Amino acid sequence: ACPTGAITIRDEIGKAWRELYDPKKRVVFQIAPAVRVAVGEEFGLEPGVNALDKLVSALKMMGAAEVYDTNFGADLTVMEEAAEFLERLKKGGPFPMFTSCCPAWIKYLEKENPKYLKHVSTCKSPMEMFAAVLKDQYKAKDAEDGRTTYHIAIMPCTAKKMEAAREEFQHDGRPDVDLVLTTQEIITMIKESGIRFTELEGESPDLPFGMGTGAATIFGTTGGVAEAVARRVVEDKSRNTLQAIQFSGLRGSEAIREVSLPVGDRILRIAVVHGLVHVKKLLAEIEAGTAYYDLVEVMTCKTGCVGGAGQPYGLLPAKHQRAEGLYEADRTALIKRSERNPIVGELLAGPLKGRTHELLHVHY
Ligand code: SF4
Repeated sequence: ACPTGAITIRDEIGKAWRELYDPKKRVVFQIAPAVRVAVGEEFGLEPGVNALDKLVSALKMMGAAEVYDTNFGADLTVMEEAAEFLERLKKGGPFPMFTSCCPAWIKYLEKENPKYLKHVSTCKSPMEMFAAVLKDQYKAKDAEDGRTTYHIAIMPCTAKKMEAAREEFQHDGRPDVDLVLTTQEIITMIKESGIRFTELEGESPDLPFGMGTGAATIFGTTGGVAEAVARRVVEDKSRNTLQAIQFSGLRGSEAIREVSLPVGDRILRIAVVHGLVHVKKLLAEIEAGTAYYDLVEVMTCKTGCVGGAGQPYGLLPAKHQRAEGLYEADRTALIKRSERNPIVGELLAGPLKGRTHELLHVHY
């Protein structure tokens, strides 16, 4: 059972099929980073093989109107979270700033340790940032053709079902994410369709929201969010600096990792923690004053989202292979830093200008 009470297992496959077959609906998907490196396992692919292109093809065959990438939402998160962090550095806190992508972590704080809620970044999770932007941008399309955009997020995580249902993420009486399907649920749907997954020709996610960077891809494993934010806040953006961040200690499997990173005239203290038992230990150390950090990345699942409860069952080596698959995707990505995502840049300078607080931030 989930120790935070955040996880409710619901099988929503029937609901997804009904929406896909409803002619009045336009079903639009987003796919989280960790899903792509695990979805192939049930079809005989090795853990860590990036099957995003095959998953896009499968969803199109199943009736998806558009298939996008949560990486786009992760790039938005990096931009907003880095800006918030730099602002806190100017204002002097509150520190540490905790990351906000993991809904089980938020639920744990609300139930067990609410005094730290003010330390949590006000950024919505990538899934919710993506969904808020999508629903906003599709309003005109819905009015034009009379169909309703129905948004399904494929996530490695059962707690994301709880997050999608939170009242903070409802607009005009509807949730921004209409339905969350886990990796396991989408695997079942592919099997039900009789699709031969491994034989599919791959297809890229659709534009504009199918574009994401390498920094966004590594969100799916422990240390990825902190590394992506570090890439954004360091002033020297050279290849050497990216490599220095890569080897700084943010990556790895130790339960709690600590890194010092120079930014301007400051040395930032960053911690990465995964697994709830270790999160509690770290909080106790912060409370006792024996540890100080400026930024803490928290993921309640061991190994981060690659090891989420919605993923196919896998032992630790498989989860590490999935993480390696994400790092490989980052290595081969055309764009490695979120600020270089051209669609994110256009949106922030255009339709989202002056509306980022409304669409991309939340207070718990
Ligand atoms: Fe979900 Fe686990 Fe990832 Fe948290 S760490 S967002 S609970 S999969």
